[in-house]
Amino acid sequence: MSVKMFFKLICFQALLSFTAHGLVIVENGSARAQIIIPENANPVEVLAAKEMKNFVGRATGAELPVVTPGTASPEKGKILIGRAAGKQSVAPNSFIIKSAPKELILAGGDTSGSLNDAKTATGTLFAVYEFLEKELGVLWLWPDEQYGVAVRRKDRIETADYERKIDPPFENVRIRKLPLAWTRRSARACSTEVRFPGRSGHAFVDWAARYAKTNPDFFALAKSGRNARPGSSMCVANPAFQDEIIRLWVEARNKNPGVRIDINCCENDTSGACICERCKAWDPPGAPEGDVSERYAKFYNAVYEKAKRIDPSVRVYGYAYKNYVNAPETIRLPQNIMISIVPSPSFPYNRKARKEIPGNIGKWGKSGCSLIYRPNLLDGYAMPEDISIDYYTEFQVMRNARMRSIDIDGPNLSFATQGPFLYILQRLLVKPDASLEELKNEYYSAFGPAAGHVRDYWEYWNRYALDNAELFHEVPKKYNPLRHSMFFGFHYAFYAHRLFPEEVFPPAEKFLDEARKAAKDSPDDLKRVEFLKAGLDHARLCAATCAIFADEKSTTQQRLDALAKVRAFRAQSLPRWAAWLEGFVMNGRNEQVAWTFSAFDPNTMIELPVEWKLALDPQNSGERLGYSRTSFDDSSWQRIKTDRFLEYQGIKDGYINAWYRLSLTIPEKYIGKRAILHLGAVDESCSLWINGEMAGKFTFDPAVNPDSWKNPMEFDITEFIPENGKITIALKVINNQGRGGLWRPSQIRFFNEDDMKILIDAKTFSPEDRSARTFGKQLSYVDGMIRISGAAKKTFGRIYLDKLKKPGGKKLEITFDYRDSRKHSLEFVVLEQDISKKPLRHTPIKLPFSKEWKTFRKSIEVLPETGRLDIAVNNNMKPEEFAEFKKIFLELSPQLAAPRRETENQ
Ligand SMILES: [Zn+2]
Repeated sequence: MSVKMFFKLICFQALLSFTAHGLVIVENGSARAQIIIPENANPVEVLAAKEMKNFVGRATGAELPVVTPGTASPEKGKILIGRAAGKQSVAPNSFIIKSAPKELILAGGDTSGSLNDAKTATGTLFAVYEFLEKELGVLWLWPDEQYGVAVRRKDRIETADYERKIDPPFENVRIRKLPLAWTRRSARACSTEVRFPGRSGHAFVDWAARYAKTNPDFFALAKSGRNARPGSSMCVANPAFQDEIIRLWVEARNKNPGVRIDINCCENDTSGACICERCKAWDPPGAPEGDVSERYAKFYNAVYEKAKRIDPSVRVYGYAYKNYVNAPETIRLPQNIMISIVPSPSFPYNRKARKEIPGNIGKWGKSGCSLIYRPNLLDGYAMPEDISIDYYTEFQVMRNARMRSIDIDGPNLSFATQGPFLYILQRLLVKPDASLEELKNEYYSAFGPAAGHVRDYWEYWNRYALDNAELFHEVPKKYNPLRHSMFFGFHYAFYAHRLFPEEVFPPAEKFLDEARKAAKDSPDDLKRVEFLKAGLDHARLCAATCAIFADEKSTTQQRLDALAKVRAFRAQSLPRWAAWLEGFVMNGRNEQVAWTFSAFDPNTMIELPVEWKLALDPQNSGERLGYSRTSFDDSSWQRIKTDRFLEYQGIKDGYINAWYRLSLTIPEKYIGKRAILHLGAVDESCSLWINGEMAGKFTFDPAVNPDSWKNPMEFDITEFIPENGKITIALKVINNQGRGGLWRPSQIRFFNEDDMKILIDAKTFSPEDRSARTFGKQLSYVDGMIRISGAAKKTFGRIYLDKLKKPGGKKLEITFDYRDSRKHSLEFVVLEQDISKKPLRHTPIKLPFSKEWKTFRKSIEVLPETGRLDIAVNNNMKPEEFAEFKKIFLELSPQLAAPRRETENQ
């Protein structure tokens, strides 16, 4: 036998043994197998078959038929989906992949609920995704079907012979803001139901209403007495309080036999501060001032011990939060205590974070409890960053510390400028054992022949983040005009140019130029490189715009021109998902508002002095004593700063009512313009008087507006300004819990009608905000009106409509209003434009302000108890049209569709 012959034989045998038990799915680009779904296929099985067909088709050009067992061809190989393979005994979201002669089984633990519900188990779908990743090498990069999913061409697909059973590595996986359908692919998103007798999230916010009169001893003792108000801390060491938690739990169990019910001990959004002797006795001697970690660990243990006697499988949920964020040093916690950990947003880690965060998480792990990881990844803006090494480290420390579930909040979804990090963020949830290098290489491989240059590009930004980690922490503290170091990503619009000066961009550009050359013959890879390039160009433009706005010498016209340039770039050149534009418009402190307001500086704004006058009002007699009146003499009142909490200025907790006063004269040039008083942040509730007249009121309610304490608040005070411009502002702040006061600087902003147009345009309907968003929760269709309603949490209600398609091609008429629990100026916008003919994707629709839009503004009094946001869309749709509209709307509004989760921290 010749050597050549011998070699051929070996190859033939190798091929034989390889194919003996596998299944040939596609050969020479044509289908050799069929996809079989059960007769009564559920939505999971239908989608699983669809995804399988779709991606095999994309890879090979072959079209696999989808059939039921009755219509299956006996000649063709079988890909059995879900129950088509018979009944499988697998847990929800677990799955098996098994290939036998002429057969491939892709099946898993499914439930029959809606695919829009994260609690629906989709094991069969996960089996398909696992197969597509392993056998076809499909990579999920960003939620764009065409280029965000990398699929390599193949002529032949043949399964190896294997059997695999895979259990989900985590109980709950959620990445907020990303569409659920996408995170099922990229991260195996799943959610198990956790039920409590009462609320999820903060557990005791409604206890004040129920127990303030009968059991004041349940609530934290403050110097002023028991603090039985909404959102109070609790007296956690009080056995009667713990017994009531148990009683409610037993009651719920009895009402719902056979249903698993756990216990929620996640306290309110407060710093557990009871000063009673019993609670203080739970703090170990020598505990750092204000650190009540051990006290809360003992609380969770005490409740668990009581519940365990009734049901040993019970779980008790708690937070590592505020002044009990540190791990307890001396106490063991059982595994059935589930602690949610929210590490401070701190990527890239600076020296301090590198030292402290993993250490604390590790200590939590050593305490014995189970952990839920709830990172707040709120920074980054449009800027290029690769922070995956720090995230990877934190994730692995969490995992070693018995992480059961993960709920990623606020990821900055700028896929073009933070791609490797976002990829690793998702893929670690599927492959937690993979090394950082392996995951990075996977990501780079999606760029085909350009992979090496793309790696160089990201390594450049990775080094930049690591080398400048301290800068990333210092700059926000220094240049953020709101002096708010937390969540600094929101404020990048003020200082992006300081973190990313112009000279850092050209070297990065060179890498992408090389990548472009390398990918020139590979159209899909070239598109992906161009996606990165668009993100980089956008980042550079944003940084340059920041510089113009930060320059005191730039004129209003220069600023408006710069803003127009950014917006034009976004409208024309920025692919969807390249930068997370929706994320730049949060909490009223967003980029557009910051820039638009700043554009008019200093000509249309008065910065109010930081120093005001203050009197505490323990008897709540200020109104009777005339504190609100212009004529009141406040010369004996103390001076107080309004850029920090009262507690930072020597005011002791427990004051409840604090009155602020400020008198000023508004310059003549502003008289007659619309005047908006912008209060930096009021913690918690307030009433406002201008020249003795009630001008507005805001009521904090943790169930309705839990974040209001840190957000700006605006009051239209136009009608209260007299011709001579002299005003006295009197602000009564009511604070029931924790730190309080008017604690961020305030302004009065003046607008003429032209300014107003630019503002409304920027704030609510900018064409580049290519998403439909609302803060409402429900959609309904009654009498030709679509109504979206829900608790109004934000300062401004808004809905971006440019992505909404009106089925049927008729004109769309939209009425828009915002209501909350105070007297608020109402923005009422009617749009008449046929936007149905424009394609949804990649083509933003321009809405010239002057012709198509009409604005009306008027003040309304809204019932304080409703505090709801209502947006009505009147377009006489038929019910079936509405169904289509709703589908599109929900697709575009992931936060509408996503159910709230028990792990949510505020
Ligand atoms: Zn106490």
